[in-house]
Amino acid sequence: MIEADIIQLQEDISGLEAMTQPISPDNAIGRLSRMDAINTRSANQTALNAARVRLVKLTKTLPKIDSAEYGECDECLSEIPFARLMLVPESEYCVTCSEKLAE
Ligand SMILES: [Zn+2]
Repeated sequence: MIEADIIQLQEDISGLEAMTQPISPDNAIGRLSRMDAINTRSANQTALNAARVRLVKLTKTLPKIDSAEYGECDECLSEIPFARLMLVPESEYCVTCSEKLAE
């Protein structure tokens, strides 16, 4: 499942990379649509960065899956619920700890 996620992310990243190419200062598209293009590009850039971070995490998670530590909270060592791992396979902390750490 993580492998499928990684493939999906790699596709997302290449798609986003295509959409975040520098915008040419082409007057033909007009000032307003150029502003739109810049806004869209910056949103795509944010999504691209998030996708890259996630890809790195997933890639690091993959070899750990078969180990005993996988699915264990790095903070309190309790088991991370399976549902959470399905949703966020790269989870390092249980819900309680990740909320605590995010504060
Ligand atoms: Zn915990």
